[in-house]
Amino acid sequence: MILSQFEEHSVFSQLDTFGHQKLVYCSDPGTGLKAIIAIHDTTLGPALGGTRMWPYKSESEALHDVLRLSRSMTYKAAITGLNLGGGKGVIIGDSRLHKSEALMRRYGRFIENLNGSFITAEEVGTNPRDMEYIRMETKYVTGVPESIGGSGDPSPVTARGVFMGIKACLKECFGNDSLAGKAIAVQGIGQVGENLVSLLRNENAKVYISDINEERLAQIAQKYGAIAVANNSVFDLDIDIYSPCALGATVNTETINRLKCSIIAGSANNQLADEVVHGKMLLEKGIMYAPDYLINAGGLINCYSEIAGFNKKKTFQMAENIYEATRKVLQKSKQENIPANEAANKIAEKRIEDIRKIKASY
Ligand code: NAD
Repeated sequence: MILSQFEEHSVFSQLDTFGHQKLVYCSDPGTGLKAIIAIHDTTLGPALGGTRMWPYKSESEALHDVLRLSRSMTYKAAITGLNLGGGKGVIIGDSRLHKSEALMRRYGRFIENLNGSFITAEEVGTNPRDMEYIRMETKYVTGVPESIGGSGDPSPVTARGVFMGIKACLKECFGNDSLAGKAIAVQGIGQVGENLVSLLRNENAKVYISDINEERLAQIAQKYGAIAVANNSVFDLDIDIYSPCALGATVNTETINRLKCSIIAGSANNQLADEVVHGKMLLEKGIMYAPDYLINAGGLINCYSEIAGFNKKKTFQMAENIYEATRKVLQKSKQENIPANEAANKIAEKRIEDIRKIKASY
């Protein structure tokens, strides 16, 4: 180690801490582009990750976000069995004020210069139109609209993956994966939530739904025969499964103490307010938790399919593999008496290490 103590928060030391391979700062005064691309690990394949546009208060905040998010993409691809690495891009700016065709295309040229080691997709603050602009400068972009040959809306695939994750939990918890008569609360009935409600109702589950959008709540309740409930009452319902499909951090000390369910499985990212504290609390309380980054991997699978040229049927089949992957995680969690999120991390790390070794030999 040649860095002095004074440099412990330097960019290099942060790259060491997170285990990143490469960081690219993209600057173009002409378009106002200020972006950072982080490539975390490419052992399994090219680093894939969305590009977020956000009005970060400081460069260090943007750096921290891109390092954290890119690393989580490595784990997501690995646990899902995809041949992809983890990466992420962040553009510093307000997407409503600072976005332009030229800025997006300039960003696309930076991606082109990475020669395929980074592939991007839409994320918070970017949309399919932005991906079209990036596509004008590089082929290393996915999640473009179906009208120009892309895989389109990932939500049905994500919902299918979440549905399979829920069934895997049922199997491990009750010995069979039937949803008939099981009570489930889906919190957030947006793109993913609605598709999930449809799948659950098709298998005769008793479905409670909540959302802050009351008009939509009433519509979805009527369309699928679901029971609309007040958003905050979700944590007090007598249910088998709680499915967070809106926001992160809804599984926290307060809600864990209130929840009466046996299973938590939903699409929202970062469901545990604190991975270590709340993963352990769930284990101790005997609530089965399907790690969010595994069961919501349908969006990533959709992107992977687009790159690999798979059709919709194959894409949905890949989302169904989430069933076995979730069971494996839950079994490891039980055998080793460790939180499910920790078990998932261990499986992901082992896959990366195993593949790293075979790539080192000829
Ligand atoms: P969406 O924006 O279409 O739907 C979110 C829904 O949640 C909306 O109906 C909104 O009104 C509701 N909502 C917002 N705040 C709420 C609150 N406090 N309480 C209850 N409801 C609230 O989003 P989506 O695409 O359905 O994604 C849902 C979640 O799944 C998000 O956390 C997203 O990051 C995650 N996710 C989505 C995909 C995908 O393919 N769309 C993939 C992976 C993860």
